[in-house]
Amino acid sequence: MSASPSQILPVYSPPQEVFVRGEGAWLFTDKNERYLDFIAGIAVNALGHAHPALVDALTGQAQKLWHLSNMFRVEGQERLAAKYVETSFADVVFFTNSGTEAIEGALKMARKYHTANGQPERIDIIGFSGSFHGRSYAAINASGNPNYVEGFGPRLPGYVQVPFGDHDAFNAALTEKTAAIILEPVQGEGGVRAVPEQCLRGIREACDKVGALLIFDEVQCGAARTGKLWAHEWAGVTPDIMAVAKGVGGGFPMGAFLASAEAAKGMTRGVHGSTFGGNPLAMAVGNAVFDIINAPEFLSRVRDMSNHLGQSLEGLRDRHPDLVVDVRGKGMLRGVKLTIDPKTVQASARARKLLVGVAGDNVLRIAPPLIIDETHVSHAVDVLDAALNDIDAGAAA
Ligand SMILES: *Cc1c(COP(=O)(O)O)cnc(C)c1O
Repeated sequence: MSASPSQILPVYSPPQEVFVRGEGAWLFTDKNERYLDFIAGIAVNALGHAHPALVDALTGQAQKLWHLSNMFRVEGQERLAAKYVETSFADVVFFTNSGTEAIEGALKMARKYHTANGQPERIDIIGFSGSFHGRSYAAINASGNPNYVEGFGPRLPGYVQVPFGDHDAFNAALTEKTAAIILEPVQGEGGVRAVPEQCLRGIREACDKVGALLIFDEVQCGAARTGKLWAHEWAGVTPDIMAVAKGVGGGFPMGAFLASAEAAKGMTRGVHGSTFGGNPLAMAVGNAVFDIINAPEFLSRVRDMSNHLGQSLEGLRDRHPDLVVDVRGKGMLRGVKLTIDPKTVQASARARKLLVGVAGDNVLRIAPPLIIDETHVSHAVDVLDAALNDIDAGAAA
């Protein structure tokens, strides 16, 4: 029997390389060729590949107990929830297997909150253009991206979209019918755009004024990626509900939604659930990831290396002003906005054994493992420089 990519539902279009092994910030192919990984499974492999502490946590747990379901107490959930609660605005945590499920739960919680308050008609969810919240029906409706909603039947009721950065449209959309606002403090998929800190504060105030809940989607920008444990800490505001995933599992599929006790008051016994969510394997890894990324020295190192990365990417703009028009994002979630299709630069970088991503709005997306050092940054920026030089030379020829 021969393996064929044509038997995979063709919703993805991966390149030819086959990676079989990883170590830190490096990936190795079946031909033992080494690639520098500056996308990290889309901001998932926060501690790089095969981090010894995560391998130990996973294999240690694998020898004891894999799965119980939530019919029984899962000790790892209780330990990890205590850590999340102690270090955030939240009072309660629900564990999921993915970011989409965390979003789904967060949106359900917001509507249930208003029902518990005797306002079941209060269902509107305001989302922003360019946002990405996952691929379930609720998540695609919350984002409203036409590429994701078209062809899947009528839009769900109660989802309102506002253009990113349009304050007037936002104020007009926010009414007594608004259940919640959902946004990414740093938009990932939509083009790696950080929401200005004063806007996050303004949105918080606006929510409080009408009694709407504020949901932060930190699936991509959370888990220390911006140099703070959660990205919203930079703005000094807290949400009522937060969805997390990607980096919190370091490569093991897991996510969570966190909430204040007030926001969670409608979520009583039987109202929500998951078979796999918070299973012992995921919790073993989630606890190990958290213990590393929450250390103050780890976070300050991420901030230092992020500054270095940001400055190095600014250098690209100085050297290629005709190709690079903006360097944006925050921490180790960076976007390089180009005047050309970022896929050309991505492919050229890959030919030079550097892996980067793309995002909307002509942006090259850079999301390395948080454990990188200066040598990784120099290597990556040298490769991008060379890729952009080639394009410059091609244009001149
Ligand atoms: C990836 C992502 C999701 C969806 O997470 P999945 O694990 O793919 O379901 C939701 N929100 C944001 C901001 C994301 O980047």
